[in-house]
Amino acid sequence: MKKSILIITILYGLGLSTSLWFYNHKPLIIKDVGQLLPTKIKEVHSFTSESELQSWVKEAIDNEEKISVAGMQHSQGGHTYYPNGMLIDMKSYNKILDYNEKERTITVQSGATWEDIQTKINPDHLALRVMQSQNIFTVGGSISVNAHGRDIRYGSLIDTVESFRLLTSEGDIINVSRTENSQLFPLVIGGYGLFGIILDVTFHLTDDELYQIRSKSINYEDYPDYFLNEVKQNKDIRMHIARLSVAPETMLQDMFVTDYELAEEHDLLSSYSKLKGDALASPQKFMLGLSRYSDWGKDLLWNVQEKFYVGQDGNYITRNNAMRTDSKFMEYDHPTKTETLQEYFVPIDEFTNYLDDLRTVLEKEELNLLNITVRYVNKDAEAVLSYAKEDMFALVLLINQGKSKKDIQKTEQVIQKMIDVTLEHNGSYYLPYYPYPTQAQMDEAYPRNKEFFQLKKQFDPNEVFMNLFYKEYSK
Ligand SMILES: Cc1cc2nc3c(=O)[nH]c(=O)nc-3n(C[C@H](O)[C@H](O)[C@H](O)COP(=O)(O)OP(=O)(O)OC[C@H]3O[C@@H](n4cnc5c(N)ncnc54)[C@H](O)[C@@H]3O)c2cc1C
Repeated sequence: MKKSILIITILYGLGLSTSLWFYNHKPLIIKDVGQLLPTKIKEVHSFTSESELQSWVKEAIDNEEKISVAGMQHSQGGHTYYPNGMLIDMKSYNKILDYNEKERTITVQSGATWEDIQTKINPDHLALRVMQSQNIFTVGGSISVNAHGRDIRYGSLIDTVESFRLLTSEGDIINVSRTENSQLFPLVIGGYGLFGIILDVTFHLTDDELYQIRSKSINYEDYPDYFLNEVKQNKDIRMHIARLSVAPETMLQDMFVTDYELAEEHDLLSSYSKLKGDALASPQKFMLGLSRYSDWGKDLLWNVQEKFYVGQDGNYITRNNAMRTDSKFMEYDHPTKTETLQEYFVPIDEFTNYLDDLRTVLEKEELNLLNITVRYVNKDAEAVLSYAKEDMFALVLLINQGKSKKDIQKTEQVIQKMIDVTLEHNGSYYLPYYPYPTQAQMDEAYPRNKEFFQLKKQFDPNEVFMNLFYKEYSK
């Protein structure tokens, strides 16, 4: 009797401790928002204090760990993790450290989002100069991809960053600006977390302004002239975005444009400056859902969208509200499918011929393309991995695709063809997405990429900061 109790006790103890062991050592599989690169990593850490973060990094360096840095993980190519590596989640490192309304500067920790900054500065009628169209991203993640937005007067984010502090691969904290440790400035901005952890950043702010929306339909052949003569020449138009049809009936031909023109009625600013929520998410989500599964849905979505946006012509909106489009309507959860982004940059004078060639590819291939927006981005001669070799139109493509190996291969073939067409038109593509592009395409789009990876090894000889993007393209 006693013996059986003992055996039961031992077995029970073993079972419990085994399950606890599995609980404590369960494989930590990480995915970014693209969901296509699930990867087993060692640990996730987050910090709110600089000294704790620094001493943890020093210890990780001593232990020869590989470190990856993550913000909201909206990049889609494993840029925030590495097999068997340590992930630092920066989201809780998000304090506003200094805000000087008079000097119009703000210093924030890098896990802060644009939304955090907008909430702070909006009451003083100040605004950011450059950020993405959505405000959900972290400052560190946005700087590390050198993001761009709708304001047509600035280039990418690098134009508006004054300085930042960096925790390096030796565990030191240094200031980086155009005058201090200046070699690192154009490497870290657009450097995908490979040169260290951006701790905090100082931005120069601008005025919040009241805009009047100008919106109309246009044919793609008229768009470059319209943009150059009526948008770029008009000093009062501050921001611009366009949409291109992916509906079968009007594929890559019909467009509509939205310009944000400085309103004469500036004294009305306060009446419009309450930060808006996301009233449109549900209807937009519903129609995007229909467009996923049928050509009929795509035609419907295009017609409704066009009427809706063109119908906004004449409305007033503040800069801060124009810079906080929500992306909730894009949220998508499906067992076998996901939604991925691509972004292609083409010189303005190539736009029309480029679209004709892109259409030829898309007519032959099978790709569930849901949406294309068009932005303008000024030439960026500063960032080492600059995507804007000259003033360019940026086309952002939203694609619905399967998650299986076969589906990924199918999508890869089409995307590589689209990138070939883009390169033939002296274009380039954006790097925060799935690693569909070949190494040869990377070399052509980013002629300084070898220099970038050499300098990475110079500044981080032990390859402390790692991610899947580096693994893929630094060969
Ligand atoms: C719906 C959607 C809309 C988008 N719209 C735009 C747009 O309008 N314009 C545009 O330019 N881009 C756009 N993007 C791309 C987006 O800007 C990038 O994916 C951006 O990196 C997202 O920020 P994040 O906080 O999610 O960064 P993450 O994806 O978490 O990180 C991106 C990179 O930054 C590094 N990183 C993060 N924090 C730090 C830090 N503190 N120090 C050092 N490195 C760090 C990471 O290691 C990684 O390499 C869009 C993406 C999506 C999904």
